[in-house]
Amino acid sequence: MTTLDSMPGVLAAAVVEAALELLDAEENGPTSTIRMDDAVLTSALVKAAIAEVPGAPDADRWKQVMTRLAVFLAREVVKLWSDAYPDRVAPLRAIEAAEAWAACPCEHHAEAAAETTAGAARQAMAVWRIPPKEAAWAGRTAAWAADAPRYGWQTVAAIGGACRAARSENVIAAAERFFSAELRSR
Ligand SMILES: [Zn+2]
Repeated sequence: MTTLDSMPGVLAAAVVEAALELLDAEENGPTSTIRMDDAVLTSALVKAAIAEVPGAPDADRWKQVMTRLAVFLAREVVKLWSDAYPDRVAPLRAIEAAEAWAACPCEHHAEAAAETTAGAARQAMAVWRIPPKEAAWAGRTAAWAADAPRYGWQTVAAIGGACRAARSENVIAAAERFFSAELRSR
Protein backbone atom coordinates (compact mmCIF):
# COMPACT_ATOMS: atom_id res chain seq x y z
CA MET A 1 0.00 0.00 0.00
CA THR A 2 1.37 3.38 -0.98
CA THR A 3 1.12 6.03 1.71
CA LEU A 4 0.70 9.74 0.96
CA ASP A 5 4.31 10.33 2.01
CA SER A 6 5.74 7.71 -0.33
CA MET A 7 3.50 8.61 -3.27
CA PRO A 8 5.80 11.21 -4.91
CA GLY A 9 8.71 8.76 -4.84
CA VAL A 10 6.64 5.91 -6.24
CA LEU A 11 5.29 8.14 -9.02
CA ALA A 12 8.74 9.51 -9.83
CA ALA A 13 10.34 6.07 -10.14
CA ALA A 14 7.41 4.71 -12.15
CA VAL A 15 7.39 7.57 -14.66
CA VAL A 16 11.15 7.63 -15.20
CA GLU A 17 11.37 3.84 -15.50
CA ALA A 18 8.44 3.70 -17.92
CA ALA A 19 9.95 6.47 -20.06
CA LEU A 20 13.35 4.74 -20.21
CA GLU A 21 11.74 1.41 -21.08
CA LEU A 22 9.75 2.99 -23.91
CA LEU A 23 12.81 4.76 -25.30
CA ASP A 24 14.79 1.51 -25.17
CA ALA A 25 12.04 -0.31 -27.05
CA GLU A 26 11.84 2.54 -29.56
CA GLU A 27 15.54 2.18 -30.36
CA ASN A 28 14.81 -1.29 -31.72
CA GLY A 29 12.20 0.16 -34.03
CA PRO A 30 8.73 1.46 -33.25
CA THR A 31 6.82 -1.28 -31.46
CA SER A 32 3.52 0.47 -31.15
CA THR A 33 1.35 3.07 -32.78
CA ILE A 34 0.46 4.51 -29.37
CA ARG A 35 2.10 7.89 -28.83
CA MET A 36 4.86 7.64 -26.25
CA ASP A 37 3.31 10.14 -23.85
CA ASP A 38 0.10 8.09 -23.84
CA ALA A 39 2.15 4.92 -23.48
CA VAL A 40 3.84 6.23 -20.31
CA LEU A 41 0.49 7.02 -18.73
CA THR A 42 -0.96 3.64 -19.65
CA SER A 43 2.09 1.59 -18.61
CA ALA A 44 1.27 -0.78 -15.75
CA LEU A 45 3.76 0.88 -13.36
CA VAL A 46 2.48 4.41 -13.88
CA LYS A 47 -1.17 3.43 -13.94
CA ALA A 48 -0.76 1.67 -10.60
CA ALA A 49 1.04 4.70 -9.11
CA ILE A 50 -1.58 7.17 -10.38
CA ALA A 51 -4.42 4.98 -9.08
CA GLU A 52 -3.09 5.53 -5.54
CA VAL A 53 -3.37 9.31 -5.80
CA PRO A 54 -6.57 10.42 -4.06
CA GLY A 55 -9.01 12.05 -6.43
CA ALA A 56 -6.73 11.28 -9.37
CA PRO A 57 -7.45 13.79 -12.12
CA ASP A 58 -8.33 12.92 -15.70
CA ALA A 59 -5.94 11.77 -18.41
CA ASP A 60 -5.63 15.21 -20.02
CA ARG A 61 -4.61 16.74 -16.73
CA TRP A 62 -2.01 14.00 -16.15
CA LYS A 63 -0.60 14.58 -19.63
CA GLN A 64 -0.07 18.19 -18.70
CA VAL A 65 1.53 17.16 -15.39
CA MET A 66 3.96 14.92 -17.31
CA THR A 67 4.90 17.73 -19.66
CA ARG A 68 5.47 20.09 -16.74
CA LEU A 69 7.65 17.36 -15.20
CA ALA A 70 9.72 17.23 -18.40
CA VAL A 71 10.20 21.01 -18.26
CA PHE A 72 11.15 20.79 -14.58
CA LEU A 73 13.72 18.04 -15.29
CA ALA A 74 15.19 19.97 -18.22
CA ARG A 75 15.67 22.94 -15.90
CA GLU A 76 17.35 20.62 -13.35
CA VAL A 77 20.02 19.48 -15.83
CA VAL A 78 20.54 22.62 -17.94
CA LYS A 79 23.32 23.85 -15.65
CA LEU A 80 25.48 21.12 -17.21
CA TRP A 81 25.00 22.93 -20.50
CA SER A 82 25.48 26.49 -19.21
CA ASP A 83 28.63 25.54 -17.31
CA ALA A 84 30.17 24.08 -20.47
CA TYR A 85 28.85 26.67 -22.94
CA PRO A 86 28.05 29.88 -21.04
CA ASP A 87 27.86 31.93 -24.25
CA ARG A 88 25.44 29.59 -26.06
CA VAL A 89 22.07 30.48 -24.62
CA ALA A 90 19.55 28.84 -26.96
CA PRO A 91 18.87 25.89 -24.60
CA LEU A 92 18.31 28.31 -21.70
CA ARG A 93 15.91 30.38 -23.81
CA ALA A 94 14.11 27.16 -24.73
CA ILE A 95 13.62 26.23 -21.07
CA GLU A 96 12.42 29.73 -20.23
CA ALA A 97 9.85 29.51 -23.04
CA ALA A 98 8.75 26.07 -21.78
CA GLU A 99 8.46 27.45 -18.24
CA ALA A 100 6.30 30.30 -19.54
CA TRP A 101 3.97 27.59 -20.89
CA ALA A 102 4.07 25.73 -17.55
CA ALA A 103 2.97 28.93 -15.81
CA CYS A 104 0.24 29.58 -18.38
CA PRO A 105 -0.48 26.40 -20.37
CA CYS A 106 -2.19 27.79 -23.48
CA GLU A 107 -1.74 27.27 -27.23
CA HIS A 108 0.09 30.56 -27.58
CA HIS A 109 2.76 29.62 -25.05
CA ALA A 110 3.03 26.07 -26.43
CA GLU A 111 3.66 27.52 -29.89
CA ALA A 112 6.15 30.09 -28.59
CA ALA A 113 8.09 27.35 -26.78
CA ALA A 114 8.11 25.07 -29.83
CA GLU A 115 9.62 27.91 -31.85
CA THR A 116 12.72 27.87 -29.62
CA THR A 117 13.33 24.14 -30.18
CA ALA A 118 15.24 24.29 -33.44
CA GLY A 119 17.78 26.82 -32.15
CA ALA A 120 18.42 24.85 -28.96
CA ALA A 121 18.70 21.55 -30.83
CA ARG A 122 21.13 23.13 -33.31
CA GLN A 123 23.44 24.35 -30.54
CA ALA A 124 23.32 20.94 -28.82
CA MET A 125 23.96 19.00 -32.04
CA ALA A 126 26.91 21.27 -32.90
CA VAL A 127 28.78 19.89 -29.88
CA TRP A 128 27.28 16.39 -29.94
CA ARG A 129 30.62 14.64 -30.45
CA ILE A 130 32.55 16.94 -28.12
CA PRO A 131 32.98 16.13 -24.42
CA PRO A 132 31.45 16.60 -21.95
CA LYS A 133 28.71 14.46 -23.42
CA GLU A 134 26.46 15.33 -20.45
CA ALA A 135 26.40 18.96 -21.58
CA ALA A 136 25.25 18.03 -25.08
CA TRP A 137 22.51 15.83 -23.62
CA ALA A 138 21.42 18.67 -21.32
CA GLY A 139 21.19 21.06 -24.26
CA ARG A 140 19.29 18.54 -26.35
CA THR A 141 16.95 17.88 -23.41
CA ALA A 142 16.11 21.59 -23.24
CA ALA A 143 15.10 21.46 -26.91
CA TRP A 144 12.87 18.42 -26.33
CA ALA A 145 11.27 20.06 -23.28
CA ALA A 146 10.44 23.17 -25.29
CA ASP A 147 8.75 21.03 -27.93
CA ALA A 148 6.79 18.96 -25.40
CA PRO A 149 3.88 21.38 -24.75
CA ARG A 150 3.13 21.36 -28.49
CA TYR A 151 4.17 17.79 -29.31
CA GLY A 152 3.38 15.68 -26.25
CA TRP A 153 5.55 12.68 -27.10
CA GLN A 154 8.65 14.87 -26.69
CA THR A 155 7.88 14.70 -22.97
CA VAL A 156 9.28 11.18 -23.00
CA ALA A 157 12.34 12.19 -25.02
CA ALA A 158 13.04 14.98 -22.50
CA ILE A 159 12.74 12.65 -19.48
CA GLY A 160 15.10 10.18 -21.19
CA GLY A 161 17.49 12.98 -22.16
CA ALA A 162 17.64 14.22 -18.58
CA CYS A 163 18.66 10.68 -17.54
CA ARG A 164 21.51 10.75 -20.07
CA ALA A 165 22.66 14.21 -18.90
CA ALA A 166 22.45 13.33 -15.21
CA ARG A 167 22.17 9.90 -13.59
CA SER A 168 18.73 8.29 -13.47
CA GLU A 169 18.80 8.24 -9.65
CA ASN A 170 19.25 12.00 -9.63
CA VAL A 171 16.48 12.47 -12.16
CA ILE A 172 14.14 10.28 -10.09
CA ALA A 173 15.04 12.31 -6.98
CA ALA A 174 14.24 15.53 -8.86
CA ALA A 175 10.98 14.03 -10.16
CA GLU A 176 10.09 13.13 -6.58
CA ARG A 177 10.50 16.81 -5.57
CA PHE A 178 8.30 17.78 -8.51
CA PHE A 179 5.54 15.35 -7.54
CA SER A 180 5.74 16.36 -3.86
CA ALA A 181 4.98 19.95 -4.81
CA GLU A 182 2.41 18.83 -7.36
CA LEU A 183 0.47 16.65 -4.91
CA ARG A 184 0.62 19.32 -2.21
CA SER A 185 -0.85 21.92 -4.54
CA ARG A 186 -3.84 19.77 -5.41
ZN1 LIG B 1 -0.29 30.82 -21.93
